[in-house]
Amino acid sequence: MFRSIKWRLTVIIFSVTAIFLFLLGFYLMDSMEQYSYENTQKRLFSNASLMASDLKEAFAREPHPDFFQDYARRAKGDINARITIIDPAGKVLGDSTLDKDSMANHADRPEIKKALAGKTGTASRYSTSLRQRMFYLAVPVTTETGVAGIVRVSVPWSEIGAAYNQIRLSIGTAVLVALILTVAVASSFTSTLVVPLQEMTRVAHEMAEGKLDTTLNVRTNDEIGALSRGLNYMAQRLRDNIRQITEERNKVKAILTSMNDGVIAVDRNGDILLVNPAVERMFNISYENSVGKSVIEVIRNFDLEKLLHEALTSDHSITRELQLMAPEPRSFRISTAPLTNETGVVGVVAVMRDITAFREVERMKTDFVANVSHELRTPLTSIKGFVETLLDGALEDQDTARHFLEIINDEADRLNRLISDLLSLSRIEAKQREIHKKPLDMEKLILNSVSILTPQAKEKNQVLNTDIIGPLPLIEADEDMIGQLMINLVDNAIKYTPEGGQIAVCAQAWNDGVKVAVSDTGIGIPRESIPRLFERFYRVDKARSREMGGTGLGLAIVKHILEVHNGKIEVESRLGKGSTFTFYIPVKQARA
Ligand code: ADP
Repeated sequence: MFRSIKWRLTVIIFSVTAIFLFLLGFYLMDSMEQYSYENTQKRLFSNASLMASDLKEAFAREPHPDFFQDYARRAKGDINARITIIDPAGKVLGDSTLDKDSMANHADRPEIKKALAGKTGTASRYSTSLRQRMFYLAVPVTTETGVAGIVRVSVPWSEIGAAYNQIRLSIGTAVLVALILTVAVASSFTSTLVVPLQEMTRVAHEMAEGKLDTTLNVRTNDEIGALSRGLNYMAQRLRDNIRQITEERNKVKAILTSMNDGVIAVDRNGDILLVNPAVERMFNISYENSVGKSVIEVIRNFDLEKLLHEALTSDHSITRELQLMAPEPRSFRISTAPLTNETGVVGVVAVMRDITAFREVERMKTDFVANVSHELRTPLTSIKGFVETLLDGALEDQDTARHFLEIINDEADRLNRLISDLLSLSRIEAKQREIHKKPLDMEKLILNSVSILTPQAKEKNQVLNTDIIGPLPLIEADEDMIGQLMINLVDNAIKYTPEGGQIAVCAQAWNDGVKVAVSDTGIGIPRESIPRLFERFYRVDKARSREMGGTGLGLAIVKHILEVHNGKIEVESRLGKGSTFTFYIPVKQARA
C-alpha cells in the first residue's frame, strides 16, 4: 500500500504538518507557561509588597506572639496563597497553613536569604511539610532600622498556569483535528493526482494489448492534462501507423495471393519465411507446413537450395532456369533478390515462373518450322524430280509423260491442300479469320457434311450412318468452321478405316449444348499417341497419312475451331478395333 504515490504523498504531507503543528503547539504552551509564571510572580509580588508595607508598623511595635499567625491566616483568604511571616533570624512568626511553632528555621532558604539582603527572593522546590512542589516569593519588611522581617507567599507549582490548562486542551484538540483534516485533505488532493495516473496506466496497458481506440478524458489543464493529451496523441499516431501497416500488409498479401508466379522468401539460414498460394499449388504444399522449415525439406531440390544459398551470399539478383519436380518435371525461371534491412542481407526472396508451357510452345514452333519445311519439300522434290525426268527425255514417251504429269498434278494438289490447311490453321490461331457466329442447326450441318463425304465412303465400300437423337438445340457457331470440323473428323474416319468398315455420326443434346460422336471401325490409335493427335503435323503413321492425302493438320484445325467455340473433344480408341472422336459445343459461348 505504501508503495503507491498516493500514500507516500499523504504520509509526507501528514508528517510535515504534524511536525509543524507539534512545534507550534509546544511553542504556544511554553510561551503560555512562561506568561503564567510571570503573572503569578507579579501577583504574588504585589500581594507580598502590600502585606510588607501593612506589617511595617506591626514589626515596629512588637505585637502579640499570635498576631502574625492570625494575620497570615486572615490574609490567606484574600490572596489565595500560603503566607509565611518570618523574623530576620529565620524564625517563623506566622504561617497561614501550618502551625508556626512546628516549623523549622527558614534562614537558610534561598528566597529568605535574598529577602534578608533587601531584595525580592524567589524559589521553587519540593516542600516536605506540604508534600508538593511549591513556588515561593519573599519580600523584606523594611523599617528605618533595616530589614525587620520577611513576608513570604507561596503557591503550589501546579497551580501556576492551571487556568491555561483549558487553552492547552483546546490547542491539543485543534492540533489533532488539524492532523485529521490534513490526512483527509492530503488524501483527496493526492487522489486528484493519482486517479488520472491510474487511468493512464490502465489505458497504457490496454494500448499495449492492442486496444488502441481507448482515449483518456482530459480533465485538467495542468501537467497531468498535458500528459493525457500526449498519450491520446500517441494512441492516435499508433492507430494511424497500425492502420497504414495493416493496409500495406493487406496489399502485399493481396498481390502475393493473386500472383501466378510463385514467391518464396527464406531467412539467413535458408529457412522458409513465406510461400504464396502459387507455390502451394505448384508443389502441392501448405503454408503452415512449410514456414520455418528448410527449402530442401519442403521442395526437395538441391539445385534450388544451391541457388538460394548462392543468392544469400550475393548482393545482387540471380536469374536461373531450373527443372523442378512439381510433382512431374517442370521448367521454372527463378529470379532471386536479397532481402535487406539496416543490418544487411537478412534473407532472399525468389520469384518462380513456370515456363514449361512457354518452353513447349517454343519447341513446337521450332518443330513446326522444321515440319512445314519438310512437308513442303517432299512434294516439291517429287515434282522437281519428275519434271527433270520429263525434260531429260521422258517427254518423248507419251504414256510415261502422262503418268509423270498425273503424279506432278497429285503432288501439286497436295501442296495446295497443305498450304490451304496451313493458312486456315494460322488464321484461326491468330484469330484473323472473321468468325460469323449465328444460330446453327447442327442436324442440317451434320447431314450436309455426311452427304459430301458419302461418295468417298462408298468408294471404300464403307457404311456411313447418321443417328441424330431428338431435336438438337440451335448453337451459336460459325457454320463454315463447324462444317470444316465435321468434314475433317468424318474424312479421317473414312481414311483410317479399311474397305468395308463402318462409320457412324451420332448427335444429341447435351448439357446446354450438342454432343457429336464420330466413330469408326478403323485401325485405331495407340494409347500413347492420343495426347499428341491434335499437334500440328503429328501423325501416327506418316507414310499411311501421306498415302491417304493427309496433311497432319486436320485435327489441329479441329482443336482450334473447338477452342473458338468454347467446346472440347475427347478421343477413345482401341488399336485395330476403331476410334471415337466425341466433341461438345455449348449453345451459348462466352465472348472471347
Ligand atoms: P492427317 O491429315 O494425317 O489425317 P490429322 O491431323 O487429321 O492428320 O490426323 C492426325 C493423325 O491422327 C493421323 O495421321 C492419324 O494417324 C490419326 N488419326 C486421325 N483420325 C483417326 C482415326 N479416325 N483413326 C485412326 N487414326 C486417326
